Amino acid sequence: MAPMLRLYNTLTREKAAFTPIDPGHVRVYACGPTVYDAAHIGNARPIIVFDLLFRLLRHLYGEAHVTYARNVTDVDDKINARAAERGITIRELTDGTLSLFHQDMRDLGVLMPEDVNVAGERPRFLEPRATDHIGEMVSLIEGLVAAGHAYVAEDHVLFDVPSMPDYGSLSKRPLDEMEAGARVEVAPYKRSPLDFVLWKPSKPGEPSWPSPSGIAAPGRPGWHIECSAMSWKHLGKTFDIHAGGIDLIFPHHENEVAQSRCCFGTPVMANVWMHNGFLQVEGEKMSKSLGNFVTIREVLNDWPGEVVRLAMLKTHYRQPIDWTVRGLEEASRTLDRWYGLVGDASPAHEPPAAVLDPLLDDLNTASALAELHRLDDPASLKAGAGLLGLLGQTKSGRERASVQASGIDVAAVERLIEERRAARAAKNWAASDQARDALSALGVAVKDNKDGTTTWSVIK
Ligand code: AMP
Ligand code: ZN
Repeated sequence: MAPMLRLYNTLTREKAAFTPIDPGHVRVYACGPTVYDAAHIGNARPIIVFDLLFRLLRHLYGEAHVTYARNVTDVDDKINARAAERGITIRELTDGTLSLFHQDMRDLGVLMPEDVNVAGERPRFLEPRATDHIGEMVSLIEGLVAAGHAYVAEDHVLFDVPSMPDYGSLSKRPLDEMEAGARVEVAPYKRSPLDFVLWKPSKPGEPSWPSPSGIAAPGRPGWHIECSAMSWKHLGKTFDIHAGGIDLIFPHHENEVAQSRCCFGTPVMANVWMHNGFLQVEGEKMSKSLGNFVTIREVLNDWPGEVVRLAMLKTHYRQPIDWTVRGLEEASRTLDRWYGLVGDASPAHEPPAAVLDPLLDDLNTASALAELHRLDDPASLKAGAGLLGLLGQTKSGRERASVQASGIDVAAVERLIEERRAARAAKNWAASDQARDALSALGVAVKDNKDGTTTWSVIK
C-alpha cells in the first residue's frame, strides 16, 4: 500500500487523506496554458507545482498507474484576434507558441510526454488540445440540452444555472453575489444573468465548426466546455484530482463542474480540487501596465531553469509567492552548495523519509527543502532532491553548461592556464600574476589543488 498522501481540497476546504477511485489508475487533470503568446513567469507556477504532484503520485502508485492530462487552450478570442492580425490560421499561431512553451517547460525540468510515455501502453501524460475535441464538446452540449440543463437562444447555447440546485458548491459564493457580478452586462438572450455560454456563433472570418443540433450557422465553443470534454475523453466522467491556479475557481472550474455533473448525472466531477496561489513580482501584481511583466523565457535568459524551479518550490503552493531577484540568488547559492556536496554520486535507491514525509503533507515543499539542507550524505541528498525534480545534472554536465552559458572561450582559458603554469615553474611570479589577471578578466577563477592540478570555474 502506498504511504498516505494528504491533500487540501478546495471542494471541502479541508486537508484529507487522498484515496484514489482506482489505486491501479490515478487520474489527474490540470488546466494548462492559453497559447496566444509567450507564457509569463506566473504561468510557470502551476506547471511546476503540478509536475511535482505528478512525480509524487508516480513515486507512490507506480509509473504505469498515474495518468496526467494537462490541456492546451488553442482557441479563444485573443488567439483568434492575433491570428487574424497576422493573416495566419489559429493552428499556425498556436503551433508556434506551443513549441515555445514546450521549450520553457523542458528548461524548467518539467516531465514531458516523451519522458514518461511508453510505446504500446496507455499514455501517462497527455496534452490534449481544445480544437481536437470539438466533437466531444458538441456531444456534451447536446446532452445538456436534452437533459434540460441548457437551451438554445439566438444561435448560442447557454447553460441554465438555476436548473442546477447546488451550483456554486466549489467556489461557495453566495448566489446573490454571483448574480450581482454577472449582472454588469447581461446579454439579452440569457434567461438568468448567471447563465453562461457553451457555444456561440462565429463572426465572418473567425474560426468555426458545425454547431450542436438546433443551430444552422457554424460557431465555436465557449471557454469552460473544453475542459469538461477533454477530461471526460481522457480520464472519464469522474476522476481523482483537478488542478489549476486559484483564479480559475470561479467561474471556470465552477462551470466545468456544472457541465460535467449535469451531463453525466454524477455527484462530483473530480474528488479533489487543488489550486495554486498567485505569483507577484517584487511585491506587486504582475501586469503589462506596471512594466513588471516577465516571460518565462526572459527569466531563463538570466538564470538556469533549475534555479527558477527551486525558487518556485521554496514557497508552499497554496501561498502567494513573491518573485524576487533575491529569491533567485538564494536558490542559485543553494544549488551550488548541493552540487558541491553530491559531486557525481549516484542517488540512493529510495528518497529519505525526512524529505518524503513533508511532501505527503499537501506538498509541503518548504519543509522538504529545509530537510534537504540538513542532509550531508550525497546519495540521500540526490535521491531526495530528485523527488522534487532537482539535482538531476552531473557535476561535469553542469560545469559544461555553465561554461557554455557564459560564452567563455575555452581554448583561450586553457592557453592562459598553461602560460601561468609555465611561469610558476620558472618562478616568474609577475608573469604568473599577469596570467591570473587575464583569466579573471575573462570571467574565470583558477584553483590550485593539493594534488598539483589546476582547475578553473566561471566567476558568478
Ligand atoms: P492562462 O494561460 O491565463 O489560462 O493561465 C494558465 C495557468 O496559469 C492557470 O492555471 C492560471 O491560473 C495560472 N496563472 C496565471 N497567472 C498566474 C500568476 N500570476 N500566478 C500563478 N498562477 C497563474
Ligand atoms: Zn480548465
